[in-house]
Amino acid sequence: MRTQVVIVGAGPAGLLLGQILHKHGVANVILERQTGDYVLGRVRAGVIEQVTQDLLDEVGVGGRMHRDGLVHEAVQICVDGARHRIPLKELTGKTVMVYGQTEITRDLMEGRAGIGAPTVYSAGDVTLHDIFGDKPRVSYQAEGKSHEIACDFIAGCDGFHGVCRASVPPDAITTHERVYPFGWLGILTDTPPVLDEVVYVRHPLGFALCSMRGPTRSRYYIQCDLADDVEAWPDQRFWDALKPRLDDEARARLVTGPSIEKSIAPLRSFVAEPIRFGRLFLAGDAAHIVPPTGAKGLNLAASDVRYLSRALIEHYAEKSEAGIDCYSERALARVWKAERFSWWLTMLLHKISDNTFDRKIQLAELDYLFRSKAASTAFAENYVGLPY
Ligand SMILES: Cc1cc2nc3c(=O)[nH]c(=O)nc-3n(C[C@H](O)[C@H](O)[C@H](O)COP(=O)(O)OP(=O)(O)OC[C@H]3O[C@@H](n4cnc5c(N)ncnc54)[C@H](O)[C@@H]3O)c2cc1C
Repeated sequence: MRTQVVIVGAGPAGLLLGQILHKHGVANVILERQTGDYVLGRVRAGVIEQVTQDLLDEVGVGGRMHRDGLVHEAVQICVDGARHRIPLKELTGKTVMVYGQTEITRDLMEGRAGIGAPTVYSAGDVTLHDIFGDKPRVSYQAEGKSHEIACDFIAGCDGFHGVCRASVPPDAITTHERVYPFGWLGILTDTPPVLDEVVYVRHPLGFALCSMRGPTRSRYYIQCDLADDVEAWPDQRFWDALKPRLDDEARARLVTGPSIEKSIAPLRSFVAEPIRFGRLFLAGDAAHIVPPTGAKGLNLAASDVRYLSRALIEHYAEKSEAGIDCYSERALARVWKAERFSWWLTMLLHKISDNTFDRKIQLAELDYLFRSKAASTAFAENYVGLPY
């Protein structure tokens, strides 16, 4: 079998790249380790920058997002029981969209099925060959048989634990990492959101986040220990831990209910450099990870895909290598700014230590953020997504 681009991973990065390439006449095959249902069952991101919306529109799958997604003109930050509003639109002219990653994945999967582009789910033992040569290949197992695809390029969209980054010789790659000593315990409930804007909470008991996936579905997170086990967190314990972190109005409005999903996510910052190795390109979580505090992971995956798709389209349409040669540098310039913002917001809002100096610095910085228009604008510019 032969194609132009083999895409490893059918998460948002792989599916989006496949749709854009197909639209521009670049043949591609997606190889995904899991089943489609498993991929759809992962509850993750929810805050979508304009860039991600534009790309979904570009490939014609943005209709449901515009119908069901919630446009947010502001976010709120609650500090020790007092809530402050940061008006994103007023400060930047831009908004964000609250629309679940699960829904984006569904829209992209349906879009791909609609154009009949090939996706192999449950592809086992995906292995990359000759990434530095002219004729790379990808082999895999499916339905008990071995298969191999010859291609021009391989796009590694297979997430943090995927095979693509791991296939790069160690001396060709540098990694930068910070692991945080806490995680997020998240629950999804069919209850109305506590407020109609996303609320970030900084509290002596630890961070919390009140988000939503629609007018009747809420997503809440609390800071937890890395050693915590989700089984040790029955729903009532979660609500009991969340409530005291909220301000009085939010606490009074909070509607609790049974969780329909509950999970613990560790927090990590990670960047691989470069993200192009011969004919292999990394994109999305395969190349970098941000703690979810800044809501940037999915949006960075989309921005990598934007750079990479333009580069590959240029290669085939204009016989130009310019975009391909610049991919790593261009994508990483934007990635590092989002890494900085996500790290900064994480350090600002979580209980970092019992050291009162750390706490006082957080409070001073938050006070400055709320009082200074320049500081609020800097926050808002980063939150809605920096320009290309
Ligand atoms: C709790 C939580 C909250 C988050 N909130 C936000 C948010 O609000 N906003 C935001 O922008 N981001 C958020 N993120 C991050 C976001 O979910 C990720 O950045 C995003 O999923 C990255 O997409 P991706 O396609 O690069 O990788 P993934 O979604 O990880 O997809 C990779 C795919 O590759 C497949 N794969 C892996 N290995 C192989 C292999 N060997 N062979 C074949 N296939 C393979 C995987 O099964 C998977 O389907 C959040 C993440 C978490 C955990």
